[in-house]
Amino acid sequence: MNQIIEFSKLVHFTFGDSVLEIIYLLASILFIIGLKRLSHPDTAKRGNLWAATGMLIAIVATLLLHRQNEHRIGNFGFIFTAIAIGTITGWIIARKVKMTKMPEMVSLFNGMGGAAAALISLMEFPHINKELIMQHGLLNWQALVIFLGLIIGSVSFAGSIIAFGKLDGRIKDIRSRLLRLVNIILLVVIIGITLFIMTRGQINPVELTPFVYILLAISLVYGVLFVMPIGGADMPVVISLLNSFTGVAAAMGGFLYNNLVMLTGGILVGSAGTILTILMCKAMNRSLFNVIIGAFGGNETSVESEIGTIKEVSITDAAILLSYSRKVMVVPGYGLAVAQAQHLAHELDIVLEEKGLEVKYAIHPVAGRMPGHMNVLLAEADVPYEKLIESEQANDEMENVDVVVVIGANDVVNPAALDDPGSPIYGMPIINTLKAKNVIVMKRGMGKGYAAIENNLFFHEKTRMLFGNAKETLQKLVSEIKNM
Ligand code: NDP
Repeated sequence: MNQIIEFSKLVHFTFGDSVLEIIYLLASILFIIGLKRLSHPDTAKRGNLWAATGMLIAIVATLLLHRQNEHRIGNFGFIFTAIAIGTITGWIIARKVKMTKMPEMVSLFNGMGGAAAALISLMEFPHINKELIMQHGLLNWQALVIFLGLIIGSVSFAGSIIAFGKLDGRIKDIRSRLLRLVNIILLVVIIGITLFIMTRGQINPVELTPFVYILLAISLVYGVLFVMPIGGADMPVVISLLNSFTGVAAAMGGFLYNNLVMLTGGILVGSAGTILTILMCKAMNRSLFNVIIGAFGGNETSVESEIGTIKEVSITDAAILLSYSRKVMVVPGYGLAVAQAQHLAHELDIVLEEKGLEVKYAIHPVAGRMPGHMNVLLAEADVPYEKLIESEQANDEMENVDVVVVIGANDVVNPAALDDPGSPIYGMPIINTLKAKNVIVMKRGMGKGYAAIENNLFFHEKTRMLFGNAKETLQKLVSEIKNM
């Protein structure tokens, strides 16, 4: 340890802070390359490694070379113990988690980021620069950055924990107009307390600590209540919004410590999350303001559903129908991920193409349980990327499709989004399978989707149900088609 300290002293004596700044720049470049590579399934894994390497370099360089007011970082024992605990826990969780549980893990990790940002603010509030306080009172940039980090970080933490519970099925949605009103009031109170503290003039911040804890508590309550009413098909939007919150909260830490790499990292996460949120809002036909005050979903009363009788189809009849078609559209959903049926879906596509059919995959932006879920699964099964088309294009082509094969999808093909104003998914664009000539739906039974609502598609005259686990059903279907 002493040798490391001596080495860092020597580097600092010779080059000053410039080495650290250059390393931070390098780490930031690695983050950007990593992020760029994450945008395509083929390069995503390496992109993750590039970004992780950037983070490793940034951490090591900070520990060795960072100085503030001529003080080096100390307490290495505590720091390394914390890093070891975090690394081992994260490693074990990430290795054990099933693909279908990834969104829960992402929510939890995101929440930890928010909590870390909020803790930084709590710790730094009593240490706001005294000169700044002498000049401007608490109405200064450091205090502002600290409050933004505290509020946004704690909302992100509390919201992510609720999102985790919802994705896991432990927490149910609570929806009421009163809650929307409470959320608006809480937002006003949060802004009010912040302004109250910042306008106290030239005061020792320690005296205002109780108000900071009140602000923390109210922000946590707001985080819980703003995610509480959001449910069903709207969860993806809130997840990406929380993600961007954590990035912004971390960027506040970067401003506070004048730390280039923390700032870049935070801004990258914040801006990527914001872009994703806007795309998700567009995909779900929702407004961002409604997300922030937790006013999502349809009215409480739904129109009478047209439940009728369902028509089942045998493997043989499904194979015949498919074999005599010209164009087939596969619509994968969460059930495909649960069954891990992506490889067999690709096999079905190959046998059909060998018979001269055209096969495409219609990818809904919120299919599965995380943004890009279906793209990742299908890339893992080597489905060529050009075969994946977005919902809009799929709907344009639908009239020429002979058979749509819905594999474990439910909400993303639910016509209630188009014709039931009372439905919680009303207004969300769907893959409109009913424009095709025939629909085959593969699922285990009459189980509902994430939004927990009935789906009239299954009762439609064009639809045939092929019950069973998607993997086994596909296996039988592929061998039936091969034998024809
Ligand atoms: P859904 O959750 O709506 O439906 C999945 C269907 O798959 C179920 O109805 C289930 O029916 C069936 N299923 C489950 N296991 C199997 C299996 N082993 N074999 C065959 N079928 C199976 O999925 P969608 O993809 O259509 O929609 C995604 C939903 O998740 C949307 O509401 C979306 O908003 C939400 N969501 C999406 C997120 C994202 O970022 N993408 C994040 C959070 C939520 P049965 O039990 O009868 O088999």
